[in-house]
Amino acid sequence: MTSPPTDSGPPSDRTKVRRLPDRGRYDADTVHAILDEGLVAHVGFAAEHGPVVLPMAYGRVDDRLYLHGATGNAMLRALDGGAVCVTVTLLDGLVLSRSAFHHSMNYRSVVVFGTAETVTDPAERDDALRAVVDQMVAGRSAECRPPSPEELRATRVVRVSLTEASAKVRSGPPKEDPVDLDPPVWWGGVIPVSLVRGAPEPDEFVT
Ligand SMILES: Cc1cc2nc3c(=O)[nH]c(=O)nc-3n(C[C@H](O)[C@H](O)[C@H](O)COP(=O)(O)OP(=O)(O)OC[C@H]3O[C@@H](n4cnc5c(N)ncnc54)[C@H](O)[C@@H]3O)c2cc1C
Repeated sequence: MTSPPTDSGPPSDRTKVRRLPDRGRYDADTVHAILDEGLVAHVGFAAEHGPVVLPMAYGRVDDRLYLHGATGNAMLRALDGGAVCVTVTLLDGLVLSRSAFHHSMNYRSVVVFGTAETVTDPAERDDALRAVVDQMVAGRSAECRPPSPEELRATRVVRVSLTEASAKVRSGPPKEDPVDLDPPVWWGGVIPVSLVRGAPEPDEFVT
């Protein structure tokens, strides 16, 4: 079992936020909260033909992040035992400065470095697959048919430890240079952005 990131600083040199370091966070609460709110992980690894970043669903159990896919999934196969970088981003706002230069975004993001390991233990696979489903809607795994033995055989589950993770958070108004405020000719401020779930649309089989 690995240890979660602590709030005592970056867990490794490569996770140390150097650009605007005051935006860096390393505590497990922040890292986990961002991961738990996100829905899509961007998974980067070195493929035979060069670097690849692919979007994927994911789930978290304690300090482990899980990915899943078909046994024949080329990426998951290539990932097994290899170095991986997983990023999850929550976009909170478009930051419009009076200067083109200071335009920015408000966000909470997590970057995880690690090794991807195929999970073979049945109990861990079960927990991981439940976590991936519950990431979409909390408790959903208890409200649908569990995977059959055939479906389980066709599914690869990959684990990435959250030991080596960083978070970065930007919030607040745009940065302005004094010259742009004397007088403030252009508009400046934040356009909030959030991912909103619509009303559920039952399919034709719901009675
Ligand atoms: C939605 C969004 C839009 C962005 N747009 C831009 C842009 O247009 N231009 C731009 O330069 N930057 C942008 N950033 C910030 C970008 O992610 C980097 O933080 C920044 O470019 C600094 O890169 P660096 O290589 O100098 O980072 P460094 O500070 O040298 O990175 C060192 C380590 O810090 C950690 N780290 C760095 N960035 C992040 C992060 N975002 N989240 C979690 N951990 C991190 C990683 O562990 C990394 O290995 C954006 C971020 C988000 C979330």
